[in-house]
Amino acid sequence: MSIVQHLIHGELVTKGERSADVFNPSTGQAVRKVELASRATVQQAIDSAKAAFPAWRNTPPAKRAQVMFRFKQLLEQNEARIAQMISEEHGKTLEDAAGELKRGIENVEFACAAPEVLKGEYSRNVGPNIDAWSDFQPLGVVAGITPFNFPAMVPLWMYPLAIACGNAFILKPSERDPSSTLYIAQLLHEAGLPNGILNVVHGDKEAVDALIEAPEVKALSFVGSTPIAEYIYAEGTKRGKRVQALGGAKNHAVLMPDADLDNAVSALMGAAYGSCGERCMAISVAVCVGDQVADALIAKLEPQIKALKIGAGTSCGLDMGPLVTAAARDKVVGYIDEGVAAGARLVVDGRGYRVAGNEDGYFVGGTLFDNVTPEMRIYKEEIFGPVLCVVRVNSLEQAMQLINDHEYGNGTCIFTRDGEAARLFCDEIEVGMVGVNVPLPVPVAYHSFGGWKRSLFGDLHAYGPDGVRFYTRRKAITQRWPQRASHEASQFAFPSL
Ligand code: NAD
Repeated sequence: MSIVQHLIHGELVTKGERSADVFNPSTGQAVRKVELASRATVQQAIDSAKAAFPAWRNTPPAKRAQVMFRFKQLLEQNEARIAQMISEEHGKTLEDAAGELKRGIENVEFACAAPEVLKGEYSRNVGPNIDAWSDFQPLGVVAGITPFNFPAMVPLWMYPLAIACGNAFILKPSERDPSSTLYIAQLLHEAGLPNGILNVVHGDKEAVDALIEAPEVKALSFVGSTPIAEYIYAEGTKRGKRVQALGGAKNHAVLMPDADLDNAVSALMGAAYGSCGERCMAISVAVCVGDQVADALIAKLEPQIKALKIGAGTSCGLDMGPLVTAAARDKVVGYIDEGVAAGARLVVDGRGYRVAGNEDGYFVGGTLFDNVTPEMRIYKEEIFGPVLCVVRVNSLEQAMQLINDHEYGNGTCIFTRDGEAARLFCDEIEVGMVGVNVPLPVPVAYHSFGGWKRSLFGDLHAYGPDGVRFYTRRKAITQRWPQRASHEASQFAFPSL
């Protein structure tokens, strides 16, 4: 069986250390192995990055951007191959995989603007013969730890911008679907990146802990589940590192009585069941304002959920593939069992879903619960599967209270024709990313991505303008060139104009 290797100092390396199986979730078969790095292997990557950093830091930003331009072209040329690799290990459909790659490429395009975003700030004559400016300088060696659900896009949120800003980057991808992530990193080398500026080490907790503990690593970007995000934030900041740690979610869609229901249903189908619900921005709760909306919504959703085209992600024309692992499938089925036991009404049951010819795949069909209440675990916790819960409320205020009381605050949206309601919602909702008649309000690359509450630990959101701030340090320089023959007397009072 082939092995997914590390990429250290521009070389693919195998260390013969621990390894894990990588499965094709559509067939349930192990398709390859991935190496799990020891601390020593992680240190080798850190040493490589540290050695490569000084020259890269001093490479003009426009030259660094040229590498990103070539990288973008290579990604576009290899879209079909990358989508196939994602789909084979993650299970998502080919169209969905191509979509995540396109959103990842947006971040490479933003990184191409490095000379513009790093221009800094300048003020002339802040005092007599004194000019002042702020520089945005790279941090040095920085690292990223990424989840399984976007093996192409989430790493691309991080390293193109970090590298364009002049840093050296170490990426620890998810060990569940590492192949596309590694291949994309190889393409960046093909685009002309010097060795050591991007190292990829595969692994689990041991590799992550090595990155957290290494004094050479100045910043950590993490995307994954909330318990691990909280751990990385606590351990990283304790060691004086800059950390942004994006966690889990429970995203609510509010349906107002005046919503365009047919469009809302189409939007909800994609947002709840696309990628088998394994998106941190997936809608997993529909909050219906009034029983009439709830009844009408369920009547329209039920047949569409039953008609979802589900199969091996690598086949064409499907709506949904399998869950990523057998454990993920069992966890989702466990939540459905629990929802039933807690008294929610199971309208569509996805348990026991079989795909002919792929009987061992990790499939769960689209599932819909009605009459879900806030104390139920299926409401409180992130299920991360194709399960949509309908909660009934009587007013927009009640809907907003429900959302604001939830521990997560990643994304949300409101379906309405009422501008006043939409405006109130945007103003008062305690969630980081909000859609108005837009179910997955994932910000474009030139804005920044991040949730509130326990969906993000840290101050700065991912990518875009916040990404530039995260991967750089501000240095404020004040400079005086006294005029010849002038003499300045000592000044003991605090300098002021
Ligand atoms: P995960 O937390 O299990 O793993 C994420 C990364 O952390 C992986 O690289 C993994 O190897 C590493 N890791 C796992 N256990 C660890 C431990 N004990 N110590 C140190 N590192 C560890 O998450 P996942 O299952 O890969 O991804 C799904 C989760 O990610 C969901 O909760 C989803 O909501 C979240 N997610 C959030 C966003 C966001 O932007 N907020 C985006 C995508 C995914």
